[in-house]
Amino acid sequence: MDKRTIVGTYFRQQAEMAMPDAVIDATLISRLVHPHLREAASAEGPSGHTRSEKTATPAGRTKAASNLKSRLASLRPVDRLANSALKLPPSPSAASIPRNNVSSGKRAALKELFMAGCTKCPLAASRTKFVFGAGNADAPVMIIGEAPGQEEDEQGLPFVGAAGKLLTSMLAAINIDRTTDVFITNVLKCHPPQNRNPETAEIVACLPMLKRQIDILQPKAILLLGRIAAHALLDISDSIAKMRLRTFDFNGISTVVTYHPAALLRNADYKRPAWEDLQRFRDLLSTAGVYGHCKK
Ligand code: URA
Repeated sequence: MDKRTIVGTYFRQQAEMAMPDAVIDATLISRLVHPHLREAASAEGPSGHTRSEKTATPAGRTKAASNLKSRLASLRPVDRLANSALKLPPSPSAASIPRNNVSSGKRAALKELFMAGCTKCPLAASRTKFVFGAGNADAPVMIIGEAPGQEEDEQGLPFVGAAGKLLTSMLAAINIDRTTDVFITNVLKCHPPQNRNPETAEIVACLPMLKRQIDILQPKAILLLGRIAAHALLDISDSIAKMRLRTFDFNGISTVVTYHPAALLRNADYKRPAWEDLQRFRDLLSTAGVYGHCKK
């Protein structure tokens, strides 16, 4: 994908998710607003379609170019957006959990579980790294995906590939920092070869470790990404379309299901419902009194 297409696609996706024009880090801004790119980008409209109907006439092209230029110029890192830009509720500061509320007990228990490792299924032999999970052991929120992909297998960290980058920006859009505000893991801790779906026997072998992680972390809320994570943890077989409308109770923990970010990358139609799910999740955190923890 060339840079022009990236810029066009970026703005289109932000619009589809009803999200403000914001980026995750300042380096990206400097790349996007690089003078060469600005010139190149001015040849296309904000939709990213070069020479679309809108830009077929000289007047249309000028308007589209100035539109895109002004959007590029107004890009800001997500964490510097005013709350109003993200339509965030006011911070319930009285109910906030202080950032330094560190419980070394949880971390120690997690470490012990990690050190025990797992060789319960054949994936242990084919994996490069055991992907246990990452984030803050004291965070009130757990995010659970399906299984490590290839990049996760190489790095030993969850959600570091393309789907992970999208997850990071989705969380940032509700003011959640993935490194400090949540603990992220997967149902499977090892990469299934060729990115195939996890087999039932693998899920059965892995589930006790996930449940032990939840037991240790005692999160106030869980976000399940995708059908496989939801079916595994909640032991049901409904469609995502149905599950995403409910709040489940998993051992007393409010649990919400949404589309897996990889599904969003494959099918843009899921972006709007996923954004609605995130907003609902954010409201749930706010009601549970943990939202303030997620704020900078
Ligand atoms: N997909 C997942 O479900 N988990 C990861 O860690 C990466 C991609």
